[in-house]
Amino acid sequence: MYYKKFHDLSLSALGFGALRFPLEGEGGGRIHRAEARKVLDCALDLGINYIDTAYTYNDGDSERFLGEALAGRPRDSYCLATKFYAVSGKPVEEVFEEQLRRCRTDYFDVYMLHGLDENYISDYMDEGKDYIGYLQRQKEAGRIRCIGFSSHANPRTLERFLSWNDRFDMALIQLNYLDWTMLDARGQYELLTRRGIPVWVMEPLKGGRLSQLSPEAAAILKEAAPERSLSSWGFRFLMGLPNVKVVLSGMSTTEQVTENAETFRREDPLNEKEQAALRRAASVFMEQMGVPCSSCRYCCSACPAGLDIPLLIKGYNEYRVSGETWRVVDYERRERGAEACLRCGACLKRCPQKIDIPGTMARLAALEAEQACPQEQKGV
Ligand code: SF4
Ligand code: SF4
Repeated sequence: MYYKKFHDLSLSALGFGALRFPLEGEGGGRIHRAEARKVLDCALDLGINYIDTAYTYNDGDSERFLGEALAGRPRDSYCLATKFYAVSGKPVEEVFEEQLRRCRTDYFDVYMLHGLDENYISDYMDEGKDYIGYLQRQKEAGRIRCIGFSSHANPRTLERFLSWNDRFDMALIQLNYLDWTMLDARGQYELLTRRGIPVWVMEPLKGGRLSQLSPEAAAILKEAAPERSLSSWGFRFLMGLPNVKVVLSGMSTTEQVTENAETFRREDPLNEKEQAALRRAASVFMEQMGVPCSSCRYCCSACPAGLDIPLLIKGYNEYRVSGETWRVVDYERRERGAEACLRCGACLKRCPQKIDIPGTMARLAALEAEQACPQEQKGV
């Protein structure tokens, strides 16, 4: 593992994103303690010392689990980052104290305002709530070491926010080789760099989608470097960006941790030939990709119909890529189907990928109906 200097800290270049721990039940629920413990211990044993969670991850269970799992380790052997989400509707003071109790610590190494974007920018800039003033006081009291924010905002919104206040120690943005152009992550990265704010990366593999490229896109990368995994291309792209400090990966298995830690054994950015191959593969994949859901599940708690939206989108994408409608039916049977969507739009504000979720549900429901009709006719 290689490390990056940040103030007086030495941070592992690969950080542990605590959003995708194994769960006790499919599609949500409590973190599976024994399985999650194996994954976290493996990460710490391989030199990962930066762990990123949030008040809302797994409805608070991510912070609770980390509090339990890290309790026996010296507090200075790892860096713990968490976040305050204004949308939770609770006062920051109350949330912050609860987070310290959940995580069984008396300070956070990094504390962020969570999920800044076009919808919530005014909440975070609300002078009456004065979130930043509160966080500054906690910093002065030694309960926070660094203050930052996580953002899905486009560069214009980000500029507006930073013109209001740019006294942040870091910023966490969604950055990967597809979103570099698709969501203008490049514009965000360059703006933060100009402002002197170090960048942390989330969704480096776009929720795992960059580990499962289409066969055509994968073939381009395999030809360029047969021994490299698809995931390593995503990470090595980020190693070429000098203002990136920590790349977070939400890892669910010890195999993922081991493979990713191997990639981060040394700094090894793409050379020019490899960059050209990656641009070609990205452009082929973008044409074939379907709906760019990263499975973050932010939308799920907003859905009054109780839909497992990322699971349904996964079924829709599999149909798009493989043309096999049975997969759509299979996913539909496991959970409430897309036809139950109320078209209320409550999910739209939550989606950092700006996906037209109701429209996707409508298209999926139509596919499901098409699939069901021939069977009814045959009396199946
Ligand atoms: S539009 Fe459909 S998927 Fe979105 S929140 Fe409403 S019911 Fe759920
Ligand atoms: S639809 Fe959007 S909010 Fe929902 S899981 Fe996918 S990326 Fe996340």
